[in-house]
This record gives sequence, structure tokens and C-alpha cells, in this order.
Amino acid sequence: MRIGRNILNRFLVIFSCTFLAGCTGELTPPEVKTEFLLGTTCTIKLYDRTTSAVFEKAFARIREIESEMSVTDERSELSAVNRAAGSAPVPVSEDTFFVCSKAYEYSLKSGGAFDISIGPIVTLWGIGTEHARVPVPDEIRQRLSKVDYRKIVLNEKEGTLFLKEKGMGLDVGGIAKGFAADEVVKVLKADGINRGIIDLGGNIYAFGKKSPKQSWRIGIQEPGKERGSYIGIVEVENTSVVSSGNYERFFIKDGVRYHHILDPKTGYPVQNGLTDVTIISRSSIEADALSTAVFVLGIERGFQLINSLKGVEGIMLTEDHKIYLSSGIKKTFKLTNPQYTLVDDPTR
Ligand code: AMP
Ligand code: MG
Repeated sequence: MRIGRNILNRFLVIFSCTFLAGCTGELTPPEVKTEFLLGTTCTIKLYDRTTSAVFEKAFARIREIESEMSVTDERSELSAVNRAAGSAPVPVSEDTFFVCSKAYEYSLKSGGAFDISIGPIVTLWGIGTEHARVPVPDEIRQRLSKVDYRKIVLNEKEGTLFLKEKGMGLDVGGIAKGFAADEVVKVLKADGINRGIIDLGGNIYAFGKKSPKQSWRIGIQEPGKERGSYIGIVEVENTSVVSSGNYERFFIKDGVRYHHILDPKTGYPVQNGLTDVTIISRSSIEADALSTAVFVLGIERGFQLINSLKGVEGIMLTEDHKIYLSSGIKKTFKLTNPQYTLVDDPTR
């Protein structure tokens, strides 16, 4: 994951979906704690009676995941795997093995639109860091030859990861926040907490229900607008809502905007008319991987992937202000922004 602690990053991260706090004003105010982890602002809001020890356990779990999988921390397991590319398998923790196995699974399911071995291209562009620049085509060609998830050996018995070629590199920036959100839910539930909102930079898990009779209402951020401007609202419970947008991390050079979701086929930021993809699933790791994958796949192939998976719904926003909805989310989605028009899943 790209974990930059610089101030620039903090400004570049804009939340893509946000919990609508106090929508009805009935609840007692939640207890809220925020930390900057995983390269983004992580906020946990708890509505059950709680203690600071509970928050501490939850954030400690996120810190642990960061220390295992950050590619900007040389001491992380993932950095060790990347350094050993082309030479030796590296033993990793259960966490890292699990996240990389899931990332591999979604690389496969998306036909390589999501590719966990995108690392060499991510570092070349440096989007979200102070070193961001537009590479020359030759650099892109050379690095692209090192991007291929099929050249990763995941040895479950030994608990090792091996990259077959020197110069290869894993990057879990497109999936790790989802894993962290699922893990935080587990930690909180083990402590008897049954409802709350976990928001890891727009990667949301709304767990439990807002009240016995009410679901949570999650606002879908309007791309490029300040936090709190929504295009619509979804009502969910015990579900993750994860967005990937081309406005989250980017830089502008000569009037062109270069963003952080990269096409593993071309090595360039994806330009397909989409501005945002939101995935809704009970599994946050799945929603996170799919939001990135579907953004790369585009509308048609993206919906084909969404519809091939059980319990997964999607919302896609386009540059020309259209909102595409998968069939299962139509009932609960409320359009709140008149500048956008609703369109049905074109593959159905
Ligand atoms: P997300 O915000 O979840 O869509 O993840 C974007 C992050 O995932 C980027 O900052 C990169 O670290 C990584 N990434 C970019 N493009 C891809 C891709 N095609 N497949 C997998 N990971 C990617
Ligand atoms: Mg993602």
C-alpha cells in the first residue's frame, strides 16, 4: 500500500463515501476516534457503550496490518517479498498471506484488471507522493513487463510468497483497507460492540443496525466535490460500502489529471469515462478489491463481474453525470443530486 505520511497526501485523500452522521438525530452521540493510518484518515464511531481500551485494540489491529503490508516501510513483510523478487520465497504472516491470496483471487476473477503485482507501475508514477511525475513511454513499457500476477507463487503449506522475476513488486493499496475494516469489525464484536461505523478513508463498514428499526444511511460522495456533497444515499446494515474514484489521489501536469487507478494493460491511469465506482458487499476486502477492479473494467465488463458474484452490488458514476445501478441496489438507493440521472445496469 502507498503509505505516505506527508501532508500532501492528507490533502489529496478525499472521502468517497461518508456516513451521514445524525441523519435523524435520535441516537446519543457516538464515541469517535480518528488516526492517520494506512495512508489515510481512519475513523471509528461506536454507538454502544465502550471504553478507550476498545478503541485502542481496534487501532492497534490497523497498525499491525500497516506494519505487515506497507510498501513504503522497508521493514514490512511485503517489502521483504518485493526485495527477494527473482531470488527466494519469503515467509509471511497469516494476514499478509491471506490478503495476497485474496488479491490474487480478484486478479484472476477480473482477468487482470485488478493486478496485485502492479507495484512497479505504482512506484514509477508515484501518485500521492512528492515524487509524482509522468513517466516516458519506455519506462512504462519496461516496468509493465514486470506486472503479471500469474508469476506470483503463493505457497500455502509453507506460508511463503515468491515473485518469479527480479523487478516484480506487490502492492496491496487496492485491497488492504478493506481487509483492515473487516478485521476491526471482528475486534469490536469480540469486545461486545454490535454497532458502529468504521471509515478507513472512505472504505466504510456499517456494522450492526443504527437502531432496531433503522438501517445506516451512507452518502455516496459527489466526485471532485468537497466532503459532504452527495449524489445519493444507500441504506445498509452489516455491510461494507467502498468507493474507488479518480479524484481521490491525483496530480495535474500540463492540464492533464493523472490519477491513482492504473490500467495493468497500458500502465497509464484508467480513462474510461468513469469517475467513481462504489461496491456494496458484506465483505469489505471483497468490496475494496472489486471497486478498484470494476473501475478498471469499465461499465459493461464491470457489471458482468458484479453480476457474476453473489451478494455484491455496484454503483458507477460517469463524467457525464450518469449513475448506473446494479439491480439489487435500486430499491434502497435514493438520488439526492438533481444534476445526476439514473441509468439501469446495461448488461441486464
Ligand atoms: P483503491 O483506492 O482501493 O481503488 O486503490 C487504489 C490503489 O490500488 C492505488 O493507489 C494503488 O496502490 C493500487 N492500484 C492501482 N491500480 C491498481 C490495479 N489495476 N490493480 C490493483 N491495484 C491497483
Ligand atoms: Mg480498492
